[in-house]
Amino acid sequence: MNKNLKKKLFVISGSSGVGKGTVLKGFLNKHPEFMLSISCTTRKPRKGEIDGVNYFFLSKDDFQDCIANNKFLEWAEFAGNFYGTKKKYIEQCLTDGKDVILEIETNGALQVKEKMPEAVLIFIAPPSLEALESRLRGRHTEDEAAIQKRLNEVKKELESAKKYDYNVVNDDLEKAISELEQIIAGEQEKC
Ligand code: 5GP
Repeated sequence: MNKNLKKKLFVISGSSGVGKGTVLKGFLNKHPEFMLSISCTTRKPRKGEIDGVNYFFLSKDDFQDCIANNKFLEWAEFAGNFYGTKKKYIEQCLTDGKDVILEIETNGALQVKEKMPEAVLIFIAPPSLEALESRLRGRHTEDEAAIQKRLNEVKKELESAKKYDYNVVNDDLEKAISELEQIIAGEQEKC
């Protein structure tokens, strides 16, 4: 991708279980020049997660302080935890001439679009709700109530996805990565 193009902010969201992380990882492996923003969260680290690498793990009080001091470009509550993107990091990356990618949920993404209309919102969608449902059931990790809760969340997310600039259907990993590459390259050409 051309280095002399104006830098942009790309926001990627997707329902859990659609392989959004895998698509993004595939893209970043091919384009390591993109900066992936590290979010703040009040969620406890999972096994293997490192503070400052996967997330900045904050206490609820510290997170509230950041909100009060207007440190976040966006923040949202998701599954009982808070998540937020520090404004300063994004501004610094763009000033330094780096393209930035945020991987965040839909409420936060729409806040970004309101504050920075030039940001490009890309939603990674499941091939169909039925496909996602059978994938969730196939894992045998959740009971019926949990599956219904997740599916309701997905329905809400798919509603929000209508406000995104692009939707990429992940029915084939390589195809989804290449579609993401084309969208991002096309947006960079527009500058
Ligand atoms: P997880 O806890 O599985 O790492 O992430 C849960 C959800 O939070 C995912 O949908 C992820 O995209 C979203 N997320 C991660 N960081 C941020 C953030 O900074 N802001 C918002 N709004 N969502 C985030």
